[in-house]
Formats: sequence, structure tokens, C-alpha cells
Amino acid sequence: MFQYETVENFLSGKTILVTGASDGIGKCCAETFASYGANVVLLGKNQKKLEAIYDKIEILSPGKAIIQPVDFNIATEGDYQNLSNSLAEQFQKLDGLILNAGILGARSPIEFYPSDLWHETIQVNVNSAFSLSKALLPNLKQSPDARIIFTSSSVGREGRAHWGAYAVSKFAIEGLMQTLAEELEKTSTIRVNSLNPGGTRTSMRKSAFPAEDPKTQPLPKELMPVYLYLLSEESKPIHGKAIDVREFEPANYLPK
Ligand code: NDP
Repeated sequence: MFQYETVENFLSGKTILVTGASDGIGKCCAETFASYGANVVLLGKNQKKLEAIYDKIEILSPGKAIIQPVDFNIATEGDYQNLSNSLAEQFQKLDGLILNAGILGARSPIEFYPSDLWHETIQVNVNSAFSLSKALLPNLKQSPDARIIFTSSSVGREGRAHWGAYAVSKFAIEGLMQTLAEELEKTSTIRVNSLNPGGTRTSMRKSAFPAEDPKTQPLPKELMPVYLYLLSEESKPIHGKAIDVREFEPANYLPK
């Protein structure tokens, strides 16, 4: 796994919004970024879980976190606009948007896939990423060096039987990433990439592979060097790339 040594407080002065900050990989991102000095906006569905993460960050990195409960399944364009306005009032700029929240949907062949769960999975995994990036682009444009990291999966790069809406949602995320990256390439300093975390020890992984020994998968904290690198100045030339955390090596993504 990639290792990245950086200086204490290297995210100081930056504000980073993490979706799905109440659990798993997003929770670890939020805690890690705050520990390096960033202000973190914790977005998740479950207010109680967000409050628990907030309390933990408050002890280790006081004054660094705010919570923003949003249910992507029911949020409206107006809610996203209000979030953008509220962030603009609290912070001069947004330096990072980690679009990490997701649901697994059903594990089922397409023929029997429950339509309601199909729509919910596309709503939570894709439509929210569109709405949130659209609403927050003005906030990100205030930063001299912002990053958007979309979260993909190996089934978003090669389809796999029985992964249904989840796989399709991750293919769509790759398309959204590529489209936005090309739009922003020459008009802005925002850098946009997608990240496949690879199998990681979280509750989503447990639901997807109930028979697996969880200890065979890395903990979220083992992925953090890649996230930190992608938030660093060094990663500035990396744009529009579909990145795999497990095999991450900057030279493979930096322009030759
Ligand atoms: P978890 O299930 O641990 O966490 C998912 C997060 O998404 C939670 O914070 C949850 O919030 C949030 N979320 C779910 N539904 C909604 C909603 N309707 N509105 C707002 N937030 C919501 O997942 P992981 O940490 O494992 O996964 C994170 C990302 O990584 C996902 O995009 C996943 O697809 C991807 N990924 C994960 C892999 C793995 O092995 N873990 C492998 C490949 C990709 P709450 O807790 O409040 O419900």
C-alpha cells in the first residue's frame, strides 16, 4: 500500500467536505483530514452517528468539524443550494469535496432487481454527486487549488453479474468525473479524479461479502496516504484519472 509522509498541519487553512462521513472510509477521511489541520464538513444521513464523529474530532482537533445531515434520497436542489450558501457564509472557500457516500443496493440479477432499490441506489450514488458538485462548484472556485474526489469501485470499471445498480452507478460516476474534469481542465484550477478504494473493512464490505473474514481487508486508515497525497500540491498535475488505491503509485498517474 502507498505510503505518504507529510508535515504536521499540512491541511491547515483548508476546508474539506466529506460525504458519508458518519461511517467507514468517509469517517476515517474526516478524522484524518481534521488531524492534519483541515476544517471538515461532515455530511451523512444519520445525525446521531455524525454527532458521535463530531465529538471525537472535537476532542482531538477542537473547532475543526461541523456537521451537515443530508439524506441524499430526499434532498432537493434547494437543500444543496442552501448548503452552498451556508458554507460560503462560514468559509471563504472550499478546498476539497470527497464524494464518498454510497449504498450497495440489491445483489441480484437484473431480471429480478427491485425497481425501487434500483432508483434509490442511482439517486444516492450518482444523482447526489451531480447535485452536490453542481451546487458547490462556486465554493470550490474560490480556492486556488481545490480537489474533487469521486468514489468508484472495481465494478464501475468492469461490469459484474449481480452488482446491478451499484455497478451502473459507479460507471456513471466515472462518466461524471471525466465530463467534469474536461470541462474544468482549462477553465479552473479544480482538479477532479475518481478513486476506487478497493476492498476495505467497513459495514458495506460486510454486507457485500458476509462470509468473508473481515481481517483479510485493510482498514480505512490504510487508504489515507492516497487521499492525503491527492489533496497535496504534489498531485496537482493528476486530473481526470480513474485511480486505484491498492495499486497507487504517483508516477503511474503523473504526466510523463
Ligand atoms: P459505509 O457503508 O461504511 O458508509 C457509507 C456512508 O454513506 C455512510 O456514512 C452513510 O451514512 C452514507 N450514506 C448512505 N446512504 C446515504 C444517504 N441516503 N444520504 C446521505 N449519506 C448516505 O461504506 P464504505 O465506507 O465502505 O464505502 C464508502 C465508499 O467507498 C462508497 O462509495 C463505496 O461504494 C466505495 N467502495 C467501498 C468499498 C469497500 O470495500 N468498503 C470498495 C469499493 C468502493 P449513514 O451512516 O448516516 O447512513
